Amino acid sequence: MRYIIALIISRLAYFMIKLIGKDGTYFPGKLAIKICPDFLGRIKKPKVIIGVTGTNGKTTVCNMIIDILEDNGYNVLSNKKGANINYGIASTFLEAKGNEEIAVLEIDERSSKLIYPYIKPNYVIVTNFFRDSIRRNAHPEYIVNFINEAIPSTTTMILNGDDLICTGVAPNNKHIYYSIGRLSTDLEKSINIVRDMRICPKCHSELVYDYVRYHHIGKAHCPNCDFASPDPDFLATVDFDKMKMEYRYDNKICTYPLISNSIFNTYNEIAAITLLTNLKLNPTDIKNSLNKINIVETRFTKENINGVEVITHLAKGQNPVACSRVFDYVKNEPGIKEVIFLPDDVEDNIRTSENITWLYDTDFELLNDPSIKKIIIGGPRYLDNKLRLLLAGIPEEKMILVPSELDTANYIDADVDKIFILHDLHATHLGFAIKNKVKSILGGEQNED
Ligand SMILES: [Zn+2]
Repeated sequence: MRYIIALIISRLAYFMIKLIGKDGTYFPGKLAIKICPDFLGRIKKPKVIIGVTGTNGKTTVCNMIIDILEDNGYNVLSNKKGANINYGIASTFLEAKGNEEIAVLEIDERSSKLIYPYIKPNYVIVTNFFRDSIRRNAHPEYIVNFINEAIPSTTTMILNGDDLICTGVAPNNKHIYYSIGRLSTDLEKSINIVRDMRICPKCHSELVYDYVRYHHIGKAHCPNCDFASPDPDFLATVDFDKMKMEYRYDNKICTYPLISNSIFNTYNEIAAITLLTNLKLNPTDIKNSLNKINIVETRFTKENINGVEVITHLAKGQNPVACSRVFDYVKNEPGIKEVIFLPDDVEDNIRTSENITWLYDTDFELLNDPSIKKIIIGGPRYLDNKLRLLLAGIPEEKMILVPSELDTANYIDADVDKIFILHDLHATHLGFAIKNKVKSILGGEQNED
């Protein structure tokens, strides 16, 4: 009875919100769960349910899976527009048309126990685990425990086999591992500040890394027990020069295009391919769809303006590994570069920008490179960032630090090959406003303000 009341009232709320032209991605689901706490368990759901979780990359992985499935004629239900906590997921099911065969849901790690026991996914992809915003997420082990306590025993886990924190998730469930084979850029030792997997979780000896890709991603073993990186079920050999990969499983080899030249997004692509292969999609269909895919605009854009490539790239504030990965990408891109970086979480100014510990977990040292001509940082914490850049050994004459994000565009030079605009998720609009300013400066037009 409670369920019926919850369903009627929340559906009504959903249509009312739609009627007044707003996006009801949160409220109807909240209402439903408040009235009927096990609403998520009772509402009708598609036959196949996919969950995507992990510290970084879950939105990108979800989007790729959805795009490829839809391109192949599937009706997909997803929380693409909405929240990834229980209320958002409930709203997603409320919005269903009823003809969807598959639900692809991005799931917040901390909401695990409010979601997994009710929706019982067939597959859950875990992209990776890194130290994230300390205020919200403490330590990766703390987050892994949330998932371990909540995952139903019937769920098959698709895990990043190159992340030893990931491989320990839901130890009693069926595991499928994907991995990227050895790269020429792999290192003997991690050069990153954050390394969250150094000690064997079984016997507490120090792990030996066969090679490190970045942070704790790579291949390792324990010298004193049998703990080691797993043998991958799905192994990709990646060629960034030819922008393609060879993808091996069960004695089969498929060739797929790479949709990004960053290792990080290649992991996202391989996670998506591994799921789709397990859903029995035809490799030729996956390949044809991959050829049409772009990383979503809010995360990555590239435009050539009078010979200068202007690139916007998401770099999540408070998330040291996400920012370090982007810095690494910028460093390794060919040409002479300038970087505009907006590190402050503008939507959450009062609280999160009071916590600057993450600046010291982030590898600003990667920006200390001769190919990076200038670093322009905008935002209220610009002096904290100046100190961090100085500690990274970056010469003061290379820095421009301004309190207003929008002013950063005024300091660019036109005699570089690439200008990177790195912005937080909540500052996507600012990133794009700066891009427009940069474009008008490069185009020789009048500045608007
Ligand atoms: Zn051990």
